[in-house]
Amino acid sequence: MIRNKWKDLIAAAEDRIAAAAEEMSTWLWSHPEISDQEFGASRYLAEKAAEKGFRVTIPFAGLETAFLAEFTIGGEGFAESAAAPAAPAADHAAPAVTAPGAHIPTAAFLAEYDALPGYGDLSPDGSGNGHACGHNWIAAAAFAAAVSLKETLEELEAELPGLRGRVLLIGTPSEETWGGKIKMSEDGVFRALGIDAAFESHLSGAKGFCLENYMLACTDIIYTFHGKASHASAHPENGINALDAVNLTYAGISCLRQHLRPASKMHGIIVKGGQACNIVPDHTVMQFYARAAKRDYLETVIEKMNNCARGAALMTGCTVDIERNRYTFADMRNNGPLMQSMQESMEAFGITDFRKDDINTAVTGDIGNISYEVPSLYAIFSTAETGNGADIHEAGYLKVTDSDYAHGLLHTAAKSMAASALEIVTDEGVRNAVRAAFEADA
Ligand SMILES: [Zn+2]
Repeated sequence: MIRNKWKDLIAAAEDRIAAAAEEMSTWLWSHPEISDQEFGASRYLAEKAAEKGFRVTIPFAGLETAFLAEFTIGGEGFAESAAAPAAPAADHAAPAVTAPGAHIPTAAFLAEYDALPGYGDLSPDGSGNGHACGHNWIAAAAFAAAVSLKETLEELEAELPGLRGRVLLIGTPSEETWGGKIKMSEDGVFRALGIDAAFESHLSGAKGFCLENYMLACTDIIYTFHGKASHASAHPENGINALDAVNLTYAGISCLRQHLRPASKMHGIIVKGGQACNIVPDHTVMQFYARAAKRDYLETVIEKMNNCARGAALMTGCTVDIERNRYTFADMRNNGPLMQSMQESMEAFGITDFRKDDINTAVTGDIGNISYEVPSLYAIFSTAETGNGADIHEAGYLKVTDSDYAHGLLHTAAKSMAASALEIVTDEGVRNAVRAAFEADA
């Protein structure tokens, strides 16, 4: 448990940045940009971090709308040597940055800032986009946590000679679509940064605050069947029916459900089912999502689904092309000691209403991929007390993500994350326990 005096330093630092953080959350909310388009948001955040004394790299890790903000105390910063990391030449190119020298205890705060499309007149800038998932809030909370930790470390330097620590604010784009963190994880970015713990908070309309979150590993697959067209009445015997192949694939996958581990999910649509009723369909397309509790088991699920498609092709005489999404979302590996530290921090700042997550209603998020790279924490802050029952992605949630209530939670999230991050940076025992739990879960 963090010492009271340090907790007070964190709280005072967050209080100083509170108004700016609320302004930031509202600015991002008012300028909603969807995945891969977050140019304004990423530059705005990078500029604000630079104003607060962070060394900023943008673009970062080969992504135009990602950024890295770094502050190091008691050691050499590494951004000097990587001010403009080259874009990876290939999908698995070498990490964009490498921390030199001896390890410096490092805490990272993850900022998302992509909005969602399709909110029509409710969109604050007329673009149709809106922050119905509260990523404006995520970015502002991460920013406030980073600044609070930085300023607290600066204050503690006098009383803790030899204090060494690193604070990172990492802008991770495109969470709502293909998952920017997946590519960054696959490229080794988070490991290369030497992160001891990564923190992110998210809003939810569900009742209760949650630390042990489930996320399902997930990817999507497109099956394209090729058959042979013929007149459906005059000469059906000359046709090869690609819609039958879709039908049999769908039936096969439906039969699979009973025989998969719990929490495995497969859900799909027929994208193209044929052209006309009097022509035997010769070209059909279906898309399926596959999800599983663990990313290893997801591979088993996908292989069984692919066999359904292959079997359907054999039965009908079609050929099938199987095209899997380049990116696979991983499940979330929760870290016991890190959750313990965060729970104590949240309790210290007044949160008592904790709930257990339910894997049956779990979704998917790209922080799962980071949790396989470095110890990661994902805290859910509940807005159930406000918003008339609205939850994330609903039009009614747009009001919640820029409300006074959300601003209040923003400060609690920032203080709690900063307090636990301070523990990670200054307490070798906690750091080692977090690392040991991470290694044990590998
Ligand atoms: Zn979200």
